[in-house]
Amino acid sequence: MTAAPRADRLRLLPLGTNGYIPTAGRQTMSFLVASAQGALLLDAGTGVARLAQPEVREWLEGLERLEILLTHYHLDHVIGLSFLPGLARQLPLRIHAPAPPITEFGPEALDRLITPPFFPIELARWPMPVELSPYGLEPFRAGPFELRVRAQRHPGGSAGVRIGDALVYATDTVLDPATADFARGAGLLLHEVWLSDEEAARDDAGRTGHSAAGGVADLARQAGVGRLGLVHHHPLRAAAELETIRREMAARAGLPVLVLEEGAALEL
Ligand SMILES: [Zn+2]
Ligand SMILES: [Zn+2]
Repeated sequence: MTAAPRADRLRLLPLGTNGYIPTAGRQTMSFLVASAQGALLLDAGTGVARLAQPEVREWLEGLERLEILLTHYHLDHVIGLSFLPGLARQLPLRIHAPAPPITEFGPEALDRLITPPFFPIELARWPMPVELSPYGLEPFRAGPFELRVRAQRHPGGSAGVRIGDALVYATDTVLDPATADFARGAGLLLHEVWLSDEEAARDDAGRTGHSAAGGVADLARQAGVGRLGLVHHHPLRAAAELETIRREMAARAGLPVLVLEEGAALEL
């Protein structure tokens, strides 16, 4: 069970932890961060569909507005936006959307997706007010949350995001020593692990724009984070294989490593 947040502390509800394709009971990328002051959706992949579950909807009760941060415009991070008119009808939305130099395209990319013939209702005609707020490299606020961002190397670009000292979200990025500086001392680092080390040896990880397990374990140790959460799983990765990767990474990193369970809340 996941109770709605009551106190001041930050809580994290993973809604989707897969990259690319929803498989094996896992949705594509989306995470809800909440405090008593507000809530922020990190990415909007198919995980947004979990807002149909009453215990997830509870997290949105009493909100004035839902803040949404997109790291980039790949479909596994944005397609769930189109679910929101159906699942959050009355709730005003503010979408923080990356712009150059973080990403090659800016928020206008959404007008090419949320429009006929792909979707019948443009953002401007959604049942709730929708505000599009572009962001670049400067720190900014999303509701009650102070955010810092950095540009990551990934096809078309992507943003790494830091919320105070509580959380760093680094997905859709090659392994990058600068991520360790950015994540220094954070309580929880969510980092993508798209590739196993064997896969990375076969397909050049730099070419795919993604990271492999061993290097991510080393990065988390160097960054001195409290915990490492593994996200953006390969869709063909079985749960047992994820557990093997997690165990090997925990031994290598010397800190707690988690495979986040979708729908199960974490205290930050
Ligand atoms: Zn992705
Ligand atoms: Zn991507």
